Amino acid sequence: MTECSSSETPRSALGEPSNLSTADGVTDAGTVWFVGAGPGDPELLTVKGRDLIARAGAILFAGSLVSEAATRWAPGGCDIADSKGMTHEEICTWLIDRARRHQTVIRLQTGDPSLYGALIEMVQPLDAAGIPVRVVPGVSSAFAAAAAGVESLTLPEVSQTVILTRVAGRTPMPEGEDLVSLARHHCTLCIFLSITLLSTIQRDLREAGWPEDSPILVVHKASWPGEEKIVRATLATVRDACRAAKIVTQSMIIASPTVGARQWETLVRSRLYDASFTHRFRRAVKPGAS
Ligand code: SAH
Repeated sequence: MTECSSSETPRSALGEPSNLSTADGVTDAGTVWFVGAGPGDPELLTVKGRDLIARAGAILFAGSLVSEAATRWAPGGCDIADSKGMTHEEICTWLIDRARRHQTVIRLQTGDPSLYGALIEMVQPLDAAGIPVRVVPGVSSAFAAAAAGVESLTLPEVSQTVILTRVAGRTPMPEGEDLVSLARHHCTLCIFLSITLLSTIQRDLREAGWPEDSPILVVHKASWPGEEKIVRATLATVRDACRAAKIVTQSMIIASPTVGARQWETLVRSRLYDASFTHRFRRAVKPGAS
């Protein structure tokens, strides 16, 4: 844990806009901000997140994946700590304590804070302590993985639905959310936290009727400069392909009938851009009209 001096750099000295968080009428005095740090590339942090970090009095980041964003833009003297070795109680105590001493306290989380981020269990003790809480969204790894592979999670007449899910590990799945049931929709599945459970995923997709040649994209450390690995496989080969690529942690699994569409010869195009489609900003071109 890195403990520095707790003196906050005055906002004016940082050239920060003084109305950053008051534009919508909310004061940032003693506020804990849950900030999505994005998938790993520090440049995928939002401008709002970066501006908050630049004037933070204290930052608690979630493990090595987001440390770079915290340290790159934090002001000198910022109280920065890694929550890697902390319990839930220690995390909440840290945030409450720092919120009593600093105007802007940040809990920096990977991707978007609303996905598998233990957000509510941290917010409740802060609510009980009377500490204002705000959330800044982040780029989820599901989207960073799609971007890495130049994939679209939705395609007309192929899949218009995306399910963000995981398979049961130590956290059980609620009734009706087992992968077999979800996969029966045959839509896009973004599977988090499950790279060590590829044999379970293969078994469940087979049980849901997915063919052996169903395309699957696995992206390890999506967006991480120099560390990203992309594996293109099928239901039949995904486990061996990931083993061969030595991928065992921090990966997004995208199982979708849309994967690989860049190479398709026939594609149903979006109606929005179709010449025969009228919408608010454009009139349809009649067949035969010049
Ligand atoms: N809130 C995060 C998810 C946290 S759960 C988000 O929105 O992305 C942690 C899981 O997210 C990992 O097990 C992995 O499945 C996925 N993940 C996080 N960062 C990733 C990255 N850079 N590349 C691939 N998967 C990632």
